[in-house]
Amino acid sequence: MQNTSLQFKKQVTIKLADVKLQDALSRLQSRFVEGRSAVISEIHDLQETRTAAAAIRDRVLNDLEHWLLHFEQQATTRGAIVHWAETGDDVNRIVAEIATQHGVKTAAKSKSMVSEECGLNDALELAGVAVMETDLGEYILQLAKEAPSHIVAPVVHKNKEEISDLFAEKHQLPRKTGIAELCREAREVLRPAFLNADMGISGANFLVAETGSVLIVTNEGNGRLVTTLPRVHVAITGIEKVVPTLEDVTTLLRLLPRSATGQSITNYVSVLTGNKNKEDHDGPQHFHIILLDNGRSSLIGGEMQEMLRCIRCGACMNHCPVYQNIGGHAYGWVYPGPMGSILTPLLGGLEKSPDLPNASTFCGACAVVCPVKIPLPDLLRKLREKQMQRGMKSRQETLMLKAWAWLALHPNMYALATKIGVRLMHTMGGKEKLLHTLPGASGWTDGRDFPAPSGQTFRELYQRRTHK
Ligand code: SF4
Repeated sequence: MQNTSLQFKKQVTIKLADVKLQDALSRLQSRFVEGRSAVISEIHDLQETRTAAAAIRDRVLNDLEHWLLHFEQQATTRGAIVHWAETGDDVNRIVAEIATQHGVKTAAKSKSMVSEECGLNDALELAGVAVMETDLGEYILQLAKEAPSHIVAPVVHKNKEEISDLFAEKHQLPRKTGIAELCREAREVLRPAFLNADMGISGANFLVAETGSVLIVTNEGNGRLVTTLPRVHVAITGIEKVVPTLEDVTTLLRLLPRSATGQSITNYVSVLTGNKNKEDHDGPQHFHIILLDNGRSSLIGGEMQEMLRCIRCGACMNHCPVYQNIGGHAYGWVYPGPMGSILTPLLGGLEKSPDLPNASTFCGACAVVCPVKIPLPDLLRKLREKQMQRGMKSRQETLMLKAWAWLALHPNMYALATKIGVRLMHTMGGKEKLLHTLPGASGWTDGRDFPAPSGQTFRELYQRRTHK
């Protein structure tokens, strides 16, 4: 997928003015935020479980080569073929070679963000393989020729009416409006694709080192059909997804669906181990697993390694006030929200996405909900520091930061400046107590009003409180 993060500010302006998008994004609150809140309390030892999950991920990351080689050895013993891909292009080449080797003409695919990272579908089409997305959201996006806007709910930016129009146009069938009818129509179109596909392509939520298994977590049956019906199965994932044992996976599974979709458990948890044996009724005759690096190994041992703990639940974006207002496409690459604002610069280069580390209010909600305790605001701050060190900030921003630093080092001047500032802003707020424009900060006030301060500084309010 092409990285358009350099256009972030322009894309934000368009997304904030998109009424349909704003309506679609309002569903995030009820569907994901409230959904998570309703089930996360089922884990009575939540903080201990998050700490344990983070420790499992760190144990792997601190000795990644060992666990990957252990996974490869176990997977190979059970009949799978493991491939190593340094870049997205390598993934595309390997899949195309597998397709040629097995005479593949059609492929059915379940959701895989790593394949989006590589632009796999376009590469396979060029190689003469027709690819059908079978995850309902991804199928809708394939029809609409759009990219996912969320890592768990890729089509969250579209409403039902848009999907009804799209199906009527592309399927050439009478327009349906009910969700059940639309799903049935998609199922009828997709079912032959599963049955006729020569190759199934999936991602992986986890790679289990002790058994050499690929584990996928889904809510639609498509994952199982894609990985068991076609004679060739190719699983593609990042090298960081390995987990030592199935026991470790159970800890992560207590957190993943609850954090992602507000479910205690998803409809399907599939553990795929090896290719089809004589005694098996189904399963692929050929099972290939492709492990992608694409810059991940360069984070090992560095100050950003914690980002590789990510289990792609999407909770950070669901709870992010920035994502909630602009959606995923504005971020310009596969990974949106707080995790994307870190991963995209790390994997694609800070210079190619300079605005992303700044697309955060530092409210900290992402870190509070992250099931593997990634300190997302700290990592964003580190990226901002790197920008400062590399001279990537504008002259205006650098001057403002220098002025702020000077004031912070001179408490009396700071007190005077804030006193003047809050009184001025209080007056500007008028009876409404809202600022519709703020000189030098139109980026804030273009999209929303700024609440006027009370007219007193925090120090004044605090002093009054302590003297009562
Ligand atoms: S950073 Fe944390 S909250 Fe965000 S997707 Fe990854 S695991 Fe989930």
